[in-house]
Amino acid sequence: MSTNVGGSPQANGHTETKSWLQPKNYTMAGTHPESKILFLDVNILDSTGSEPYMGDVLIEGERITQVGTVPSRATLVNNPRVRVINGRGRTLMSGLGDAHTHMSWNGGDLEALGDLPVEEHTLLTARSAQCYLDSGYTMCFGGASAKERLDVVIRDAINAGDIPGPRSLANGKEMARRDGELCAGITAYADGPDEMREVIRHHVALGVDNIKLSMSGEEILENRSAEECFFTDEETAACVDEAHKHGKLVCAHARARDSVTMCVKHGVDVIFHASFIDDATMDMLEKVKDKHWVAPALAFPYGTLYDAAPFGYAQSKAEKVGYKRDLESSIKAMREMHKRGIRVLPGGDYGFAWTPHGTYARDLEHFVNLLGFTPMEAIISSTAGVADLFMRSHELGKIQPGYYADCILVDGNPLEDISILQDHDKLNVIIINGRVHKVSPQEYHPPPVAGQDGNRHVIVPNFPEVKKQWQKVDIATPFGQYDTEK
Ligand SMILES: [Zn+2]
Repeated sequence: MSTNVGGSPQANGHTETKSWLQPKNYTMAGTHPESKILFLDVNILDSTGSEPYMGDVLIEGERITQVGTVPSRATLVNNPRVRVINGRGRTLMSGLGDAHTHMSWNGGDLEALGDLPVEEHTLLTARSAQCYLDSGYTMCFGGASAKERLDVVIRDAINAGDIPGPRSLANGKEMARRDGELCAGITAYADGPDEMREVIRHHVALGVDNIKLSMSGEEILENRSAEECFFTDEETAACVDEAHKHGKLVCAHARARDSVTMCVKHGVDVIFHASFIDDATMDMLEKVKDKHWVAPALAFPYGTLYDAAPFGYAQSKAEKVGYKRDLESSIKAMREMHKRGIRVLPGGDYGFAWTPHGTYARDLEHFVNLLGFTPMEAIISSTAGVADLFMRSHELGKIQPGYYADCILVDGNPLEDISILQDHDKLNVIIINGRVHKVSPQEYHPPPVAGQDGNRHVIVPNFPEVKKQWQKVDIATPFGQYDTEK
């Protein structure tokens, strides 16, 4: 099976060649250094490209320390200070990643975001952060924040251990020219290279990790065509220069052909959408593929076409304004990029009415169904691939010794059915930075049952293993014999 998918950490010279752009390695507080978690009998999907295999996984403190065979297994199981989770063959894999996150989007009316007071908006953003983690996401690359400090404040609160959420790289407001914004209330306006540089310096001073350029229009606006580019070469070059000078990655909303060409020509690191890329730019992009990531964010055009009718936006209308054309063009382009080994990453544009928060893992299904990724390739690009975008391939996105313990225990095999990752009930255990975010008491290794430890446990715990044991005893032993065991 090919491991050369979006992310291909092996084939990426990026971390070396652009090391000054390495985003800050934020640490997360709140994990006890002595904490030990042992997963027994899990199907290990490690994101290296190897087929999954059965084994045990030990987490000590913030990191995974043993994978496959855990040497002191028996001792650890009997150590009451170790939290032991019976995998029963379920899949243990890395937490997922999203390459184009809008934590501050409200899942509805984007225009209303501009008027939402900052206090309510902060709460809303904190709720989305938790929703990402609840959905099995442990890495989020900020794709624009509706108010300039929301992403930054939420990132810092997550890292301080104050609120639950994924590892995240924060963005500021998206920057647009005064004649080319997508949504007025959430835009930082700038015209010309000088004003754009100033906006970037302002965002850098606020503590962002990424800079967002809003270069092309969008079909739904009708008056701002997705095929029109509003930035000039001079402006794009200036933005990349200014952001890189401060060590920040640049990402861009770029559907129009000319906007994609400018991104490649001037070195915009992360290209969102790239719907109408032409052949010449595709060739150019292939030559510098280690310098770019592409995140198509298919959820929005797909959702606008097929899921928006209940919200009053008819499919015929979506086709008329151009979403069918956009989606078809994107699919063709992404398939070609995948074939050429260009890094294509899932995630994106969740938080609109028909791409609600919590449905993020639909992106992996889109990658399989629309782009022809194998489920393994889709999972690798969403785990190791997004870790590569964080430039932390050596410690995030895989189930390997030494990696940060960001992992999910999935009830089922996502390689057989990629859509199970969308079912929160099947995400039985969620761990970030070695800290348990989600688990039910049933997951832990069962205590002894009544009669086996001097009747300290007066009820039989509702664990599958124990029930089986109890049933056997019950059938084989005459009633009353328990008394004699005291
Ligand atoms: Zn977006």
